[in-house]
Amino acid sequence: MSRDKTLLLRKIPGVDEMLQSDAARSWLARYPRVLVVEAIRSVLGELREAILSQPENEAPAVPSLPDLAAAVQERLRQTARLSLRPVINATGVILHTNLGRSPLGPETLAHVLEVARGYANLEYDLHQGGRGKRYRHVERLLCRLTGAEAATVVNNNAAAVLLVLNTLAQGKEVVVSRGELVEIGGSFRIPEVMEKSGARLREVGTTNKTHLRDYEQAVGPDTGLLLKVHTSNYQIVGFAQEVPLGDLVRLGRQRGLPVMYDLGSGSFVDLRKAGIGREPTAQEAVRAGVDVVTFSGDKLLGGPQAGLIVGRRDLLEKIRSNPLARAVRVDKLTLAALEHTLWLYLSGEDRAVQAIPTLRMLSLSLPILARRARNLASAIRKATQGRLEVGTQPEHSQAGGGSLPLGHLPTRVVTLRPRHGSAARLEEALRRNDPPIVVRVKEGRLLLDPRTLLPGDAREIVRALERIASDEQ
Ligand SMILES: *Cc1c(COP(=O)(O)O)cnc(C)c1O
Repeated sequence: MSRDKTLLLRKIPGVDEMLQSDAARSWLARYPRVLVVEAIRSVLGELREAILSQPENEAPAVPSLPDLAAAVQERLRQTARLSLRPVINATGVILHTNLGRSPLGPETLAHVLEVARGYANLEYDLHQGGRGKRYRHVERLLCRLTGAEAATVVNNNAAAVLLVLNTLAQGKEVVVSRGELVEIGGSFRIPEVMEKSGARLREVGTTNKTHLRDYEQAVGPDTGLLLKVHTSNYQIVGFAQEVPLGDLVRLGRQRGLPVMYDLGSGSFVDLRKAGIGREPTAQEAVRAGVDVVTFSGDKLLGGPQAGLIVGRRDLLEKIRSNPLARAVRVDKLTLAALEHTLWLYLSGEDRAVQAIPTLRMLSLSLPILARRARNLASAIRKATQGRLEVGTQPEHSQAGGGSLPLGHLPTRVVTLRPRHGSAARLEEALRRNDPPIVVRVKEGRLLLDPRTLLPGDAREIVRALERIASDEQ
């Protein structure tokens, strides 16, 4: 190696030297030491590489200590922050599974914080002064809201289905319509869950039509359960027929077989009132006489991730005492959020819509959305000073989370197109913003749907676009 390069390399400060700097003191106060050391090493290492890989006369100069510190600072900002963090959902998909499904409202969060910051009567009976039951905090509420005799909660609806099948039908046949062998989000498929539960799948009917006689003919000495699955993320339309719930319940009674309904979304409120599509409610399933109903806590219910199981008391007792139930149990944070969400429903639909973000987003009216889109568009126009083509146009939002597949949620979106550069670049810049902003891209434009924006989000979007647009020029 030439003498000049050796001199350059010698000018690079050592890791220890950088750790002694004033800047390092503030890094060490904010980030774990190992990550600070790693960031310094990688910045210095890259500089060394750059010097070694270039020909003599093109080798970069060694930056000043403050410049190196700035580089380390930026590296830390990118690599040492927490991985799971809030993002702004401008996609208009309300129950976006990749973005964490239902957001929780401030009142619910305040309760979670209160319960989580210290000890709680999670499994402690304050009347008797001894061991209590974990699920008692939500069972009464669930029974009230659905009309069921008994209820319990597990980690998610997939776990609920697995647990119920395993408890009631292990080693036996479960009769289910071919039209209902659903796959949800790629990793939950009825036939596979069935296999893992130890129950045997007995498919009946065809993809588009299943009759009561199909079920009747399949029932035999090996049958353990009749299962109905809500085809939440698709619909079979046209020449199609499914067996009404009441008929299935009657057949179950005649043959002494429990009937289970995997409701998927399981909303508590009739969304038709808000002019939205039709999703079966848990109350209807219970009223129809279904023995066990399962549904998610974080879909249309708008609560935390959870699997809710409601139904007949004797069956719920068996389900709760299955050892698998312990393996899929929920923690106190989930229970706190769930109890509060259920309690909001008990206060009436208006109260629930006001305090549960998912319900509020679902019921936003087009005039409100159009006004928000116009306001956002004009704020963006002003902040980006002609660097973006900004408009608004009619679109549709989506319920998401595999619910209301044909749901029709008219909205008005803000459309953006950079005058220079591509829509893909702009989308990426927004995604890498802090906080990240996730949008839809359609036909060379970015679409921002005000339906899924939370208070404060619009301001962040305007600020981000202002910065990005001025950087690009
Ligand atoms: C969403 C869904 C599931 C899975 O529920 P998770 O809470 O995501 O585990 C199961 N069955 C149906 C019909 C669904 O819609």
